[in-house]
Amino acid sequence: MTENADLSSVLDRAATGGRITPEEALDLYRSAPLHALGAAADAARRKRYAGTEHIATYIIERNINYTNSCVTACKFCAFYAPPKSEKVWTRDLDDILRRCEETVRLGGTQIMFQGGHHPDYGVEYYEEHFAAIKKAYPELVIHSLGASEVEHMARISGVTAEEAIRRIHAAGLDSFAGAGAELLPARPRTAIAPLKESGERWLEIMEIAHGLGVESTSTMLMGTGETNAERIEHLRMIRDVQDRTGGFRAFIPYTYQPENNHLRGQTQATLFEYLRMIAIARLFLDNVAHIQGSWLTTGKEVGQLSLHYGADDLGSIMLEENVVSSAGAKHRSNRMEIIDLIRKAGRVPAQRATTYEHLVVHDDPANDPVDDKVVSHLSSTAIEGGTAHPELKLVETS
Ligand code: SF4
Repeated sequence: MTENADLSSVLDRAATGGRITPEEALDLYRSAPLHALGAAADAARRKRYAGTEHIATYIIERNINYTNSCVTACKFCAFYAPPKSEKVWTRDLDDILRRCEETVRLGGTQIMFQGGHHPDYGVEYYEEHFAAIKKAYPELVIHSLGASEVEHMARISGVTAEEAIRRIHAAGLDSFAGAGAELLPARPRTAIAPLKESGERWLEIMEIAHGLGVESTSTMLMGTGETNAERIEHLRMIRDVQDRTGGFRAFIPYTYQPENNHLRGQTQATLFEYLRMIAIARLFLDNVAHIQGSWLTTGKEVGQLSLHYGADDLGSIMLEENVVSSAGAKHRSNRMEIIDLIRKAGRVPAQRATTYEHLVVHDDPANDPVDDKVVSHLSSTAIEGGTAHPELKLVETS
């Protein structure tokens, strides 16, 4: 049998829901023709979503960055400032609550509380803030933080990761956003985030969370110099945990942005590599329901293409984003444009909840929302001129 025939039979198996090995995934990732890879991934997506395969989803959310002070100094990060730096800022609770109010007012359903590893912020800080947010806006889903923050806050408070998770969940955290996964294998992780917990520990904390009923998404940062084999190993590590817990709702790869950080000038993943990753994730992660295309870091057209390479979701209109924007991600959009992008990609757009239920299916263009205030980065501090609506701009950070 020829090598192409081998690849073709593996693609056929994966397209119909059969499991592929990490070695087969690596072969496909390296060598399968791009269109054949995308077609197999799209077939797997359609099979999983038979009956609703014509729909692609998006969500309206807000990232709320509570501080940029961070002791972990990841080399790819353009967001953080060392704790004693004059560039450090924090947001107070009133400011955070005003951002929540604005999110609700604009139809957002989710907040992603995201910040640095502040040297003084233990479990108590998150308990206080999540409880206050839930008290004021019980309808907002707090889909936030990740294993790295749990590891850090537990250390600051002198408790176990399990206790930290129990306490912040009781205070209002609904699910973990899965940030901080970066690259899970040891070599690339140590190269870009030497002070972060190991990939094994990141997964261990996610597994504890899933066991406590706190589900999460999972992510991958592509393009900081990792090998193809390390990318596939990252997927294998996630799939193995998912076989035990079923707690990862989605997988979200995104590309490294090279500005304003210590890795500046090093490799970025190409857009073809990104599309291949979306496809291989759909085929290899047969136990993860949702694959998200990230238009924020790759652009809207690539986001549209991702919907033909296995993605079923186009992520969020982020009313505020400062982390990857600080590193150079400049793609912006609004609700009407995302709806249009999805429709022009041949799908019916639907606004979703954090747990992926369809909230509004836009099946008739005549009923499309015309609210042009639902704009990404309306209050971004990372992009010059990032406030699309000056009247909505909140307090400047100091
Ligand atoms: S990625 Fe997170 S943990 Fe790493 S330096 Fe940036 S803010 Fe800190």
